[in-house]
Amino acid sequence: MTELRELYQEVIIDHGRRPRNFGHLAEANRSAEGFNPLCGDRLTLYLRIEDGVIRVARFEGAGCAISTASASLMTEALRGKTEAEARALMDGFHALVTGGEAATADLGKLAVLGGVREFPTRIKCATLAWHTLRAALAGGDRPATPE
Ligand code: ZN
Repeated sequence: MTELRELYQEVIIDHGRRPRNFGHLAEANRSAEGFNPLCGDRLTLYLRIEDGVIRVARFEGAGCAISTASASLMTEALRGKTEAEARALMDGFHALVTGGEAATADLGKLAVLGGVREFPTRIKCATLAWHTLRAALAGGDRPATPE
């Protein structure tokens, strides 16, 4: 378990320092902003959805290592997912970090963030990106921002 924990921490530190899919997405047709006042984490999520499938997910903002790593891992996981699959992932992730009963087997790399459930003040850091995703998916299509 200790080795697993260290591996998990390495993944979080890596994604916290070098977030994947970081930056503005001009061709986004969904976006939302998220803010976690407890920690000061801020992020904007951009999605390009075509035929109900998330083709591209990117984010930008500034936050702690946990919020950045969570957004980085989430954007990786969302690519190629349908909106329904993205919602299922969101529910699974929420169960993971709050200690719920839902199966977490198919969360893949996202499982590394399960450790935050031992640190209640950090749960909002880990879930910020996902709350923002919920808002982005609920937002409906809008014209892509002109270049
Ligand atoms: Zn935070």
